[in-house]
Parts: sequence; C-alpha cells; structure tokens
Amino acid sequence: MYNIEKPQKAIQDRCKYVSNEKSKLRCSQFTEDDRKSVFKQFWKMSWSEKQVFITTQVESKHTERSRNRRKEETSRRTCIYIFSLKKADRTKIRVCKTLFANTLAIKQWTINNRLKQNLNISQQEKKKKEDQTDIENNQTEINKKKSRELRRNRLKEFF
Ligand SMILES: [Zn+2]
Repeated sequence: MYNIEKPQKAIQDRCKYVSNEKSKLRCSQFTEDDRKSVFKQFWKMSWSEKQVFITTQVESKHTERSRNRRKEETSRRTCIYIFSLKKADRTKIRVCKTLFANTLAIKQWTINNRLKQNLNISQQEKKKKEDQTDIENNQTEINKKKSRELRRNRLKEFF
C-alpha cells in the first residue's frame, strides 16, 4: 500500500566558484562529464569501498601560520583537508568540498564523520605502536636482567 521508495541518488549541483589564478581550487576544470562518471563509479561501489574512496581522495594537511599579523590571532595551526577528484585520464583536480560532496551526492557531514573516524584510527594506531614499543622495551629489560642473573649463577657455580 505504502510504496515509499528511497529517493534515488542523483548528482547535485556544482559549486558556484570560478577558479582563479590565486585560488588553488580548480573546480571549473572538472567538467559535467567528469562529474557524471565519478558519480556513477562511486555509486557502483559497496559501502566500504565508498569509505576508502573518500579517505583516499582527501588529503589532510597542516596549515602554515599566516604571515598577516592582523590575521594571526584568528589563524592558528590547524588541519585542513584537500579535496580532489580524478578525471577520466586520471588527472587529479583539486576541488572545493562542495563540489566534492555534490558530485558524489553525499552530505558534507558524511565526509566529516569519515575523516574524523580516519583521524581517530590513525591516532589509535600511533598509540598502539607506542604501547608496543613500551612492551618491547620492558621485554628487553627483563631479558637483560635474566641474562645477568644467569651469568651470576654460572659464576657462582664456577667458584
Ligand atoms: Zn568548487
């Protein structure tokens, strides 16, 4: 009776930005055809493939401190994300977040969540590695102690 279908995913409007010399964004170089093929490719993927796609297309970078003194207070060192999409010939085009999200027809917060999770994972991995090193260090300490004791015992036996 109630035939409620999920609204079909559709490509969203492109951003309003026009690439200029100053900006590093090249949104306007990413044509409608480019967008359509990325969109198709993306929606053929499984959920986990989509996640991987997002994290590989987005690069995180630490921003330089601003040289503008007036701006200095507002611009602290933060992590920024660089979004890029690939043309059919594999050229990477740096685009804004809006074009990125709208081309894939996903919400910006979906991307945010994904990137946050990714950041957490890498931090956890880093911590795990540090813990592992701690354990290994402890282990070497224990081994050293053991071998010292062993040597002492041997000496005792010898005399
Ligand atoms: Zn744009």
